Amino acid sequence: MTTDSPDSPDPTPTGSPPHDPAKKQASPPLLLRWLGLPKEAEVGAVMPVLVVACATVAPPLWEHVRTTFTDHTVVFWGTFFVSNGFYWGYSALMALLDLAEFPRALWRFKIQPAKKPTLAQYRKASARALLLQVVVNLPLIVLLDRYLCQWSGRNILAEELPSPLELVKHLLVFAVIEEVGFYYGHRLLHSPRLYRLIHKKHHEFTAPIGVAATYAHPIEHLLSNLLPLIIGPLVMGSHILVFWAWITIAQFTTINSHCGFYFPGFPTPLAHDYHHQVFNANYGVLGILDGLHGTRGNFLRWQESWLSGVHVSETGKPRE
Ligand SMILES: [Zn+2]
Ligand SMILES: [Zn+2]
Repeated sequence: MTTDSPDSPDPTPTGSPPHDPAKKQASPPLLLRWLGLPKEAEVGAVMPVLVVACATVAPPLWEHVRTTFTDHTVVFWGTFFVSNGFYWGYSALMALLDLAEFPRALWRFKIQPAKKPTLAQYRKASARALLLQVVVNLPLIVLLDRYLCQWSGRNILAEELPSPLELVKHLLVFAVIEEVGFYYGHRLLHSPRLYRLIHKKHHEFTAPIGVAATYAHPIEHLLSNLLPLIIGPLVMGSHILVFWAWITIAQFTTINSHCGFYFPGFPTPLAHDYHHQVFNANYGVLGILDGLHGTRGNFLRWQESWLSGVHVSETGKPRE
């Protein structure tokens, strides 16, 4: 079973994950070891590759979009497509890996290998994700299209693309707002009453799967998942391409954090996977506020032991 129904927000007060007899089968991220770099250098090597790819295709694509579609189509349908398309595309790939075990070789990177996701869990999480996209995301996109995009007084559809420096500056501001908003909102959701009423649903998955990243109460989805995400672009009056880049990064990050695998070169999902195991540690996204408030529990010790676990190849023989 990968889901539990925890009755309390603090079922394991010591911050220790449940014993997992198959833990030693888990394989740590290998990219940095292949490159001979210390694990502290782990920054998600896949991210710069994605950034370069996006920067290459963005200018011609944007010119085509601006000359082909109306402003309404760009803001409404563009945002709808970007915010939902990536989510389902990435989740579909993870479903293939989780349910069909394809490609099998990637299962060596499973964080909790004893807990294999089931089709029933995928159905449940997918139905909830679809529901929230219709009843929460869609009305928010309507508001963005009709009112919020004009709020800053800046032309978010400008033909001139933002400079790389502006892109980085805006993304840094967004990341700070996201870390602060998500961390404190998440901690609030772990207060006994709010946990019971709202956040308990998200924690039904003690070994999360990618599509369950938004498996949550609608109030949590709106206030904790979406608001910290869109406040930054609204405050900064960001170009819509910067906004789309940000929500794509956010989808990538949250699905990666919930997917249950630590792939080489990807940002580490261990902190949030640990949160789903023990409930009372790692409330933030970047780990900065968790470090500041001392809310990492026994995570660093667990991470160290996970990273130094025995590497086992598909044949069951040690790989190194
Ligand atoms: Zn989660
Ligand atoms: Zn939580």
